Amino acid sequence: MDLFARMTAYEYGEVHVRVDAATGLRAIVAIHDSRLGPALGGCRFISYADEAAAFTDALRLARGMTYKAALAGLAHGGGKSVLVRPDGPFDREALFRAFGRFVRDLGGRYITAEDSGTSLQDMETIRTETKHVTGIDPSHGGSGDPSPFTALGVRRGIEACVKHRLGRDSLTGVHVAVQGVGHVGYHLCRELHAAGAVLTVCDVEPARAERAHVEFGARVVSNDEIFDIEADVFAPCALGAVLDDKNIPRLRVGIVAGAANNQLAEPRHGDALRARGIAYAPDYAINAGGLINVALEVKGYDPHEARKRTLKIYDTIAEVLRRADAEGMTPEAVADRMVAERLTRTAR
Ligand code: NAD
Repeated sequence: MDLFARMTAYEYGEVHVRVDAATGLRAIVAIHDSRLGPALGGCRFISYADEAAAFTDALRLARGMTYKAALAGLAHGGGKSVLVRPDGPFDREALFRAFGRFVRDLGGRYITAEDSGTSLQDMETIRTETKHVTGIDPSHGGSGDPSPFTALGVRRGIEACVKHRLGRDSLTGVHVAVQGVGHVGYHLCRELHAAGAVLTVCDVEPARAERAHVEFGARVVSNDEIFDIEADVFAPCALGAVLDDKNIPRLRVGIVAGAANNQLAEPRHGDALRARGIAYAPDYAINAGGLINVALEVKGYDPHEARKRTLKIYDTIAEVLRRADAEGMTPEAVADRMVAERLTRTAR
């Protein structure tokens, strides 16, 4: 693969690589942009088809973190690390300690956190080698599970969309169809139910959907039917790429606003939503609550401050939608432009 060409295409930045034969560590740390501050982003530990796939994942994800942090008003750049999962047996603790030393040697340019395939325990292991790690146990001053904060931010984003699209200040009686009631989806249903919303949910795990039914009175539908529900809001909280050629024409909602990352299958699907008059809350703008939460750990965690800052997602989404209408652009194009403005305005 042509790494330099790929880095140029993604407007990099720097990429660090380390192998450690003793533990089987094969790690990539991608630092996309550090103009606003040290790069912050999760550590992914999964199998990859080949090396190129691992590098591409790291490059793509770190760039996404730059955008998310900048739009959330954080003094952080975007980073991400990818640890290629060894094929054979390995000592997990030794491997994550080796990774911790790698992060330590970067001297604070990159701060790591939990992501797919890593756990709170892994963050604790990394912490034995470096202080540049977040998402650690609350008993050690960490912020714990970010999902409730992500859900809080999504609820606020939905409120901004409802105000913009329906002219309403309250969620009472607003019907939200939630796809996926896992970590974030569950907490989102709790937030929405408390605010008086009516819920329809689905999940591939029937017990999770049933829990939302029992606790929040949600109607449960099949995983396919969720796209056809006549509601005010569709909230994707499961997978990426659900907004595609097949599903967008099926939607019977005025708003799409949910937690899932990379909801648009392709950028042109943002235009498809706009053509249908659907107000879309760009995923990286509305789901930043978890990142805001871990970012506050860097300077000493304060849950009240995390909550206060997450509530501001309302203002971000309101501004994105207002500008999108005024400038005749898609909300995600406006969000990207706001990121570029912040990077050039406040860069150190
Ligand atoms: P999760 O795995 O806990 O929940 C996802 C849920 O979706 C699971 O219950 C799963 O069974 C269900 N699901 C999977 N495929 C489905 C399908 N086809 N139809 C219906 N349900 C399906 O994950 P999570 O932490 O709640 O994250 C949800 C989404 O939000 C992901 O895209 C994630 O990247 C994104 N996100 C999460 C956070 C966070 O704080 N956890 C932060 C930002 C973004």
